[in-house]
Amino acid sequence: EPVLALQGLTRSFRQGRDALKVLDDAGLVLGAGEIIALVGPSGAGKSTLLQIAGLLEYPDAGEVRIDGEDCGKLSDDRRTAIRRRKVGFVYQYHHLLPEFSALENIVLPQMIAGTPRAKAAVRGRELLDRMGLLPRADHRPGQLSGGEQQRVAIARALANAPSLLLADEPTGNLDPNTAEIVFDELLRLVRGAGLGALIATHNPELARRMDRMVTLRAGRIETA
Ligand code: ADP
Ligand code: ADP
Repeated sequence: EPVLALQGLTRSFRQGRDALKVLDDAGLVLGAGEIIALVGPSGAGKSTLLQIAGLLEYPDAGEVRIDGEDCGKLSDDRRTAIRRRKVGFVYQYHHLLPEFSALENIVLPQMIAGTPRAKAAVRGRELLDRMGLLPRADHRPGQLSGGEQQRVAIARALANAPSLLLADEPTGNLDPNTAEIVFDELLRLVRGAGLGALIATHNPELARRMDRMVTLRAGRIETA
């Protein structure tokens, strides 16, 4: 069973008095353990597609299935529960909470999902360790380098052991060398955990490291 199945997604935005059709019958199937690069020019609708796939937004029409469950017919509470338990997000900017340590930033989403603090801390340390960041556990985001901040954001995305990782230019803010290193770590963690991942990137080098590449063009997914 696929981790993520998108079918017939359409989505328009109002632009002045016109409607801009960003998604127009977009579909995609992501198998368990598969890592797909989502490419396409800026403004093609990659962020919109990821937000719909992660249940942060609704499509105008079409279907989103996560682990086989049709998410369109669910209550908002149920969608939130699925998002928290099954989906990890990584954005271009880390969005870590500045007043909390690296470890706390990974512990908090677990506690929100109902994991006791002690257990969440064990998992948090384990994830930081896998990113080589255990010595930084008690540092706040402002005390970390850009690459370290993004590693913490990746660890946070995996904190609740999701089945699906969605990432939007996850290393887009980093210098090319750091981006490559952090990206490899991301792929290593995702492969190690056997997650399905859909990763938007402008970078063809990074796209080539994934299992396959799909292009969002004129609102549709083209499989190359
Ligand atoms: P990408 O991630 O590929 O750069 P986006 O999904 O961010 O593309 O945006 C696709 C298009 O939709 C852009 O023209 C953008 O301005 C527009 N857009 C995205 N979100 C909104 C929104 N909430 N309201 C209006 N327009 C939007
Ligand atoms: P990227 O191009 O890196 O994907 P954007 O800056 O286009 O990122 O979009 C970042 C976020 O802002 C996305 O969630 C997108 O849906 C939203 N967004 C993009 N364009 C608009 C817009 N014109 N109005 C409102 N929200 C937008």
